[in-house]
Amino acid sequence: MSNPFTPEQLIRKEIFSLSAYHVPPAIGMIKLDAMENPYLLPMFLRKEIALLAENAPINRYPDASAMALKKTLRDHLRISDEMDILLGNGSDEIIQMIAMAIAKPNAVLMSVEPAFVMFRMIATFANTQYVGVTLNKDFTIDLDAMLFAIAKHNPAVIFLAYPNNPTGNLFDEEAILRIIAATSGLVVIDEAYHVFANASMIDRLGSFPNVLLMRTLSKVGLAGLRLGLLVGRTQWLRHFEKIRLPYNISTMTQLITEKVLQHTDILSQQADAIKLERVKVNASLSAMNGIEVFPSRANFILFRVKNAGQVFQSLKQRCILIKNLDGTHPLLENCLRITIGMPEENTQFCSALHDIISQT
Ligand SMILES: *Cc1c(COP(=O)(O)O)cnc(C)c1O
Repeated sequence: MSNPFTPEQLIRKEIFSLSAYHVPPAIGMIKLDAMENPYLLPMFLRKEIALLAENAPINRYPDASAMALKKTLRDHLRISDEMDILLGNGSDEIIQMIAMAIAKPNAVLMSVEPAFVMFRMIATFANTQYVGVTLNKDFTIDLDAMLFAIAKHNPAVIFLAYPNNPTGNLFDEEAILRIIAATSGLVVIDEAYHVFANASMIDRLGSFPNVLLMRTLSKVGLAGLRLGLLVGRTQWLRHFEKIRLPYNISTMTQLITEKVLQHTDILSQQADAIKLERVKVNASLSAMNGIEVFPSRANFILFRVKNAGQVFQSLKQRCILIKNLDGTHPLLENCLRITIGMPEENTQFCSALHDIISQT
């Protein structure tokens, strides 16, 4: 054999120089870092799920088109007949399908910064140029900068999370409409947190040919199942559908999601409990000296301390895992993000943080 290539020679340099998405170990920790719903489903429903598992034909491939699940989702979300649904193994996979579909040699994928990190990462995976337009200091959209960037880069697609992660705020709807009007490309509204926001742009979909709307079940209590969906016109979705790997939604995900969606009252109650806790955590944080708290419409709260690294480590020593965003973007200097957990977890977090802050 001739001289074999090294990985560095063979792998695209953007990929070679990437660091893998880091998921910190969380065994034995109070886990408040990943926007998960802390509540389990009630026992009666878990037993029904166990029965589904017992009878599931897992020797067969899943239904490739996930027909039954799509119908349930359509009814559940009251999606009009002119709109189609595309399912992904989490909405991450949908972002990937869109990026792969638009990845012409000079195509640009645009978002704001700071935003959901997967927009940038997936653009890189798909060999697409990423442009992130910096938000204002208060995390609102810098509309002038955005319109300028749109004119300059002519993006194929713009991703906007509504509410935004990791900042938690809901962008001004007027600003989003101006962006939609200014671009010739697609605009994907990512509503991963809509149940906590009491706001959605889903009713706007019909008015714009180039707007798509993304949802996920991850943040409402089904993160382990991996199901995301894209709603939009067939003229777009039928092309993304070709990129979707045929069996991306597993049999268990299809069966369990359908079952759980018959009990949306349970998910709503859990979301309500999380929203109530969000008010309490916000009040506790706001009452502490030396902390700046940012208003949140999601199931997490962003806040700024004097020394984020030190506070993060001290919390970790007390077995409380949150997210340290310091160093990820200049606007997030000394910022930490806590996902709202169960009442006792939130109380423990607040009292630990209070101790740590008053000692430093
Ligand atoms: C968590 C998150 C997602 C990804 O969710 P999946 O688990 O892949 O469905 C997408 N967008 C935003 C803004 C998120 O915060």
